[in-house]
Amino acid sequence: MPQPHPTRYCLKCGYTLNYLTTNACPECGRAIDPADPATYRTTDFMRWYWAALFCGAAPLVVGVSIFLTWVVFGWNQLMAAGMFTILGGTALVIAGAIFLTVHVNQGRLTERFRWNRVYAAAALLLVNFPLAVVIAVMAVSIYTRYVVTVHNATSSEITSFILDAPGERIELGPIRSGGRARRLIAIKHDGQLTFEATDGRQVFQGTIEGYVTNNWGGHSHVKITDTGQVEITKRR
Ligand SMILES: [Zn+2]
Repeated sequence: MPQPHPTRYCLKCGYTLNYLTTNACPECGRAIDPADPATYRTTDFMRWYWAALFCGAAPLVVGVSIFLTWVVFGWNQLMAAGMFTILGGTALVIAGAIFLTVHVNQGRLTERFRWNRVYAAAALLLVNFPLAVVIAVMAVSIYTRYVVTVHNATSSEITSFILDAPGERIELGPIRSGGRARRLIAIKHDGQLTFEATDGRQVFQGTIEGYVTNNWGGHSHVKITDTGQVEITKRR
């Protein structure tokens, strides 16, 4: 005889007890009294699995999204959001491990239970830790690099573009007409960041950053226009 909702599950083995003809679980024999909610449960063990999966996927998706947004747009407020994701993500992963344990305990003896599913969820939960480390290391290394991009908007080739950073001189040329060059610099000493460029006829020079020091991060865009003007724009 069909039972009314909600669906009942065996407390011991998770078997669905909706169509009971006896007062015992047909799967494991545990006693059930339809009038006593303490003798069965109304949540399916798979719910704990979906909860664990969510706890593993959420910090991963949020963390990677924040990191990529930060890389693309350079909004440094996102670094606080990233730190919060690491803290919140740790809490979620711990919660996910608990949910997965409950799922195993409640579902282990049922027909629908799959260890492969459990391993996949456990892997998803665990992968958050190495991924967080990789993202943190990449973020620090990006944050402590100075990025210079150069756009040659003149009609001739820039044969030499020398970046003068404290302690090192870096040649970015030649840069063809309409072309671009990009360089990441790990700044190691105090000083200024300047450049001197030429197309063989004119000399272009400018100060990209008046003061930089060890691990100074930033992004500047240098555009040399067709009239020989130099436009320097700070990107972050
Ligand atoms: Zn049972």
